[in-house]
Amino acid sequence: MLAKQGVAPKNTHWAIDQDGWCAGATQLPSPNYGVRPAASEISLIVLHNISLPAGQFGGGYIQDLFLNRLNCDLHPSFNDLRELKVSAHFLILRDGSLLQCVSTLARAWHAGVSAFEGRSGCNDFSIGIELEGSDEIAFEAQQYQTLAALCRALLQRFAIQHIVGHNEIAPGRKTDPGPCFDWQHLQTLLQD
Ligand SMILES: [Zn+2]
Repeated sequence: MLAKQGVAPKNTHWAIDQDGWCAGATQLPSPNYGVRPAASEISLIVLHNISLPAGQFGGGYIQDLFLNRLNCDLHPSFNDLRELKVSAHFLILRDGSLLQCVSTLARAWHAGVSAFEGRSGCNDFSIGIELEGSDEIAFEAQQYQTLAALCRALLQRFAIQHIVGHNEIAPGRKTDPGPCFDWQHLQTLLQD
């Protein structure tokens, strides 16, 4: 049986290619990125949740946001997103499909004002992964499967020291990936 592209079957081994793109991901290149500062080792994975509109899934609005093509007239809550330029390296949709918007070698714009272990500007040295979801709703099993396969690939390629939530690097400002994210489950999958 063929696996749907971008969805990780169990025991998937994805590679990150020399240009920083993950073999298992569907590429959806965003213009929102920059160069990482020289000598900034990639040492951190930051997990997020996002849904547009909040609490609603599907629709493709997250992808539109990351590609600067979101029609902000479509929903009242989108008003706040006008002129916003953001991105993440990866987006994992509810069905577990994996999209990559920025090369892992480049600096994506996901963390904002942030600090980890006294070091500010986490975008410089991190990889951002967005899970389609919200703080109030459990994530899907296939999202964890894809996330674990992706983390394994990233751990193999980069000297990752920590996997953290956005809330941990921007406390008081951010709450994602939120209380519904099952860190223990991710850890278990990574140990499989
Ligand atoms: Zn976030």
